[in-house]
Amino acid sequence: MTIDIVNGIGGDPAVVIGFQNHGNSLLLDAGSLESLSVKELLKIRTVCISHAHVDHFIGFDRIIRVNVPHFRTLEVVGPAGIANQIRSKLLAYTWNLLEANQLNYRIHEVISDGQAMTYSLSSDNLFTLGTPALTITPSVNSALGSVLPLLQSDVVVSAVILDHGTPVCGYSLTMSDSFTVSIDGVEKLGLTPGPWIGELQKLAVAGQIHGSVRLPNGEMRDAKDLAKAILTRCRGQKITYLTDIVFSQGNLARVVAQFSGSDTLICETNFRHLHRDRAAKKKHLTSKQAALLAVSLGCKTLKIFHISNIYANDHQSSIDEAEEFFSLFSSLGPAELHTEIESEFR
Ligand SMILES: [Zn+2]
Ligand SMILES: [Zn+2]
Repeated sequence: MTIDIVNGIGGDPAVVIGFQNHGNSLLLDAGSLESLSVKELLKIRTVCISHAHVDHFIGFDRIIRVNVPHFRTLEVVGPAGIANQIRSKLLAYTWNLLEANQLNYRIHEVISDGQAMTYSLSSDNLFTLGTPALTITPSVNSALGSVLPLLQSDVVVSAVILDHGTPVCGYSLTMSDSFTVSIDGVEKLGLTPGPWIGELQKLAVAGQIHGSVRLPNGEMRDAKDLAKAILTRCRGQKITYLTDIVFSQGNLARVVAQFSGSDTLICETNFRHLHRDRAAKKKHLTSKQAALLAVSLGCKTLKIFHISNIYANDHQSSIDEAEEFFSLFSSLGPAELHTEIESEFR
């Protein structure tokens, strides 16, 4: 899996998560996408929008544009209202030369209490919103927010509603465990590599290692024995994406309840600690608050982005500050961390 912060840490929010084993990718927010090639844009099959402030949504037009010739359904996730906002973008253009079933969007609005409303928009009926399907989704703690599992079988996207003066979706991507193959192990068994290894890996990912596997010479071997001899489990990564939220007790509780156990946090640090009051007023985070969130989620890595224009000439100081706070807070015990968090609410 790859992480590309498309416009660097000072540009519009847009992060591409690439899944090499699928050859496709997922886009977190659609700020300016001018630097992505058509080929890169066409790999994006799911777009997760945090909220529709212009710096997070202006690039969606480019997603619309590149998908016109391809008759594919694009999955979009966002907060309540996003279906109508996408519809409004689509209606701004003239579509008289389309063929039947050419443009299709499935839009999941994350609401609350483990629910999502799913709208299907099609060029066939001029993107009429129609009646959404209500999806009840399993939620870690539905009293605090929503969790929406979707996508391909080995990646789950979870979303939670947070406060930025307007509802904002925070996202988490959880990859399934994967299984690497020991070629030594295959040789020790005196076997010839072939498609059977891929089949064994698929069974392992699905948690269904039982029965037999057919080898290239037609011989049947016990799947469990083969897996034990040649496969090693690699824990799936969990990446959390948080942007444009105020550091409040409510947001912290929701984020921790839904996204604990993350490996990597991609997080805005619009302001430095020095400008903490300004951050609170604009309902954004500081580098210290981003570091507190990362450590509260158990992350090993913090990647910052969406730095305010007021630091346009010096991004490095924001990076350094976030790293120093992250390193300091990572070394604290729970009581000391709690004291640091409480100090941010005063
Ligand atoms: Zn923003
Ligand atoms: Zn915003």
